[in-house]
Amino acid sequence: MAVRICPLEDIVPNAGVAALVDGEQVAVFKLDDDSVHAVGNRDPFSGANVLSRGIVGDLKGELVVASPVYKQHFNLLTGRCVEDASARIPVYAARVEEGRVVVEPRKQVATTCCYCGVGCGVVVSTHKIGIFSVKGDAAHPANHGHLCTKGAALHLSTDTGARLLYPEVNSVRKTWDQALDHAAENFRQIIAAHGPNAVAFYISGQLLTEDYYVFNKLAKGLVGTNNVDTNSRLCMSSSVAGYKQSLGADAPPCAYEDIDVADLILIAGSNTAFAHPILYRRIEEARAGNPALKLVVIDPRATVTARAADLHLALKPGTDIALFNAILYVLKRDGFFASSFVENHTENFEKLQPLLDDWTPERAAQICDLPVQQIVEAARMFGNAKAALSLYCQGLNQSASGTWKNCALINLHLATGQIGRPGAGPFSLTGQPNAMGGREVGGMANLLSGHRDLDNEEHRKEVATLWGVDAVPSNPGKTAVEMFEAIGRGEIKAVWIACTNPAQSMPDANAVRKALAGAEFVVVQEAFRDAEICDYADVLLPAASWGEKEGSVTNSERRISRVRAAIAPPGEARPDWKIAVDFALRLQALLNRKISFNYKSTEEIFNEHRESTRGRDLDITGLSYAVLERDGPQQWPYPEGARSGRTRLYADGVFPTPSGRARFVATEYLPPAEEPDAQFPLRLTTGRLRDQWHSMTRTGLVARLFSHSPEPEIVVSEIDLQKNNFPNHGLVRVTSRRGSIVMKIRASDDMRPGDAFVAMHWGGRFTASVGTNALTVPAIDPYSKQPELKHAAIRIEPFAARWRGAFAAAATPELQRAAGAWLARFDYAAIILVEGPEILLRLELAAAADPDAKALAALEQLFGQPPQTGAAAFERAVCACFKVGESQIRAAIAAGATLAGLQKNLKCGTNCGSCVPELRRLAAA
Ligand code: SF4
Repeated sequence: MAVRICPLEDIVPNAGVAALVDGEQVAVFKLDDDSVHAVGNRDPFSGANVLSRGIVGDLKGELVVASPVYKQHFNLLTGRCVEDASARIPVYAARVEEGRVVVEPRKQVATTCCYCGVGCGVVVSTHKIGIFSVKGDAAHPANHGHLCTKGAALHLSTDTGARLLYPEVNSVRKTWDQALDHAAENFRQIIAAHGPNAVAFYISGQLLTEDYYVFNKLAKGLVGTNNVDTNSRLCMSSSVAGYKQSLGADAPPCAYEDIDVADLILIAGSNTAFAHPILYRRIEEARAGNPALKLVVIDPRATVTARAADLHLALKPGTDIALFNAILYVLKRDGFFASSFVENHTENFEKLQPLLDDWTPERAAQICDLPVQQIVEAARMFGNAKAALSLYCQGLNQSASGTWKNCALINLHLATGQIGRPGAGPFSLTGQPNAMGGREVGGMANLLSGHRDLDNEEHRKEVATLWGVDAVPSNPGKTAVEMFEAIGRGEIKAVWIACTNPAQSMPDANAVRKALAGAEFVVVQEAFRDAEICDYADVLLPAASWGEKEGSVTNSERRISRVRAAIAPPGEARPDWKIAVDFALRLQALLNRKISFNYKSTEEIFNEHRESTRGRDLDITGLSYAVLERDGPQQWPYPEGARSGRTRLYADGVFPTPSGRARFVATEYLPPAEEPDAQFPLRLTTGRLRDQWHSMTRTGLVARLFSHSPEPEIVVSEIDLQKNNFPNHGLVRVTSRRGSIVMKIRASDDMRPGDAFVAMHWGGRFTASVGTNALTVPAIDPYSKQPELKHAAIRIEPFAARWRGAFAAAATPELQRAAGAWLARFDYAAIILVEGPEILLRLELAAAADPDAKALAALEQLFGQPPQTGAAAFERAVCACFKVGESQIRAAIAAGATLAGLQKNLKCGTNCGSCVPELRRLAAA
């Protein structure tokens, strides 16, 4: 409620007064023209509540208040510090009513982080011009108030200059009615001429459950096609297929609190410290509280996570099944099998016999390139554990044998009875914030609402009844890779892409871009103007983004959290569910089909989805928005009459299979789809950076998030660097059978000889090529249809630059967009945001021949100066929050500093804590 401060006449012109507004100190200023302005009274540099005593004036065209303590000035309209772009003060809405000054308090809104599947609660604090700050929600059970670097910088990613603000058709601004009518008519024509399977919807694990529900109903219920798939296919589908084959349902059996009581944590194919930082923090806390808790990490790279392990198995990429089979062999040989659990709660044990006969640790050691003793030790640690918890992610999933990698790991849990008990079980870590919610509503090409299966006639009838349609189609739809291949063949003619960036994120990105360029009709529903996918849109629809949307999401531990809007979407952007509904209503009229899309709110959609879960494994008929409001985030199942969700599944040893028994799967090892050879002798594996997210449409706007890993690079072993005489940090050309990219090379003892690593995030907005996925393989797993993004054969060659140069200027989304248009004219390009008193956009370029003169002239004009020539080097900041560089940390350690000393003297690791694992590693080196 607005707070009345004082009569306007009581304030001296061009001076301020301090007031309390909802418990916050506010500095209120009156100008000569009797207008009023209100900002936070606290000077962020001195920490003193003094700004109401500052002098108000004009500074180079900006209306500012000067701090009476130090030299800084703060813009009264934006709160921005003129001298230091990283500092801001809140701005309040102030006005005069009946002669009195009135100030609106700021809002605090509890919502959920939009990045990874940990699903942290975030409290958003707004101010007059948008979201001012974020902090971890202490009441949220996923994070208890903590946020990682990405989550803690969410408020810095809300610049509307990067946003799509109004609909466009063929790059011309249109009204919503015009754009949606055009889209609906094109879909109608294509469906009429070629049938419903000539159209497709490619959606996203970042959509909210309610958005997802509407898209699924639109495709399967209204259009009559199962061609609806999502970028979750690139993320969790092997985990899903693994759970279903082994346990009978797509349901992670564990909860985060299992970390606190496990006595062995086995992490396979996950750099948890970077990919799920808040969960990793929980692991560190559990280890600190229980020195008996052991950590085993299976990863080809010696990541921060792997280096913290009691045992690190640095296996050859892609050989996980051989390793798991050998661990199973040792568990049997050494008497660790839980025979009573196997006998009473599992089936298909006899099918394991070939594995138990053949997969000796000696055989696996050869295939995995591991010492036999390490395999035996890992097996014995697992077998001796009272509670063994496995955490796994894309290292198992993104593989042409990803489903069996999951099943092979689950076999270990079934054989030892390590499931359904506190601290025990196979626990997949969800990559995306709502991959699980999307599966709950059946938003994929092979699923139906409420974890129903498309190939089950009874399930199809149930969904058709729920939606009030005659039938839902029975033929499987095209999954992600299949969908873009079908677009490339012209089989799918129209595609609707929402909240995802397949022009960057799909494997073999060059082929995907070619398919999109040739598609008859492409609709892109997107929040960010510069996502690579926008270049392929016939119709561009501006979507609301994080902080502007209502709905719900489900995290890795089956916990449903509310997502709440703190501010209105900018321009004409609309929530995703609303866009889908408005399109569905139009198409319904054109197709003359009856199916209800008359939703007025996300709550109505949630309630319909809730009904679809009745009697299913994920039954949430006892949940409602009101319950989530009252009791906070809840795990499923939560059936009618329950007072809380279920923490852990399968405690009774009964599994959701026809027999009630979990199933062993005879998982034979298959090599990766593309093995190295003479032409492409190195193994490329891809993965995540600590501070970037997916294709960087959001995190790529935040300078702070570049400081840890500023530029694209390929990381190899010292041996490979020296063998080929590559200059460390020099430029090289990396080539696979599908494409190539010029980037910097760096040697690291994280890497096995013969392996190379490139972060998945880099795309065409930051490099001269289509990015990392120019190199990756579109081979897919036969069950999950998940592509093998983690393994490709490559070669690296020297790149001789005839010309190198760099431009720099104050960063704006507009400059980034304009500069980005020229990147492809060079062999090498890297756009880097640099945080400092002024946020700079630095563009590094190189060319093998003389540079394109037209491009250089255009860039010179854009940046207002000629390029600096020659190569540049950046220092990596380990701590992004306080900008503490690696050399500064190493110097302090050399002078005797411990982790505690680093934190005390340099402040690193004292804010979000994401760098603490690295600090610990540096201090221990
Ligand atoms: Fe967001 Fe970080 Fe939490 Fe993931 S761990 S949900 S990115 S704050």
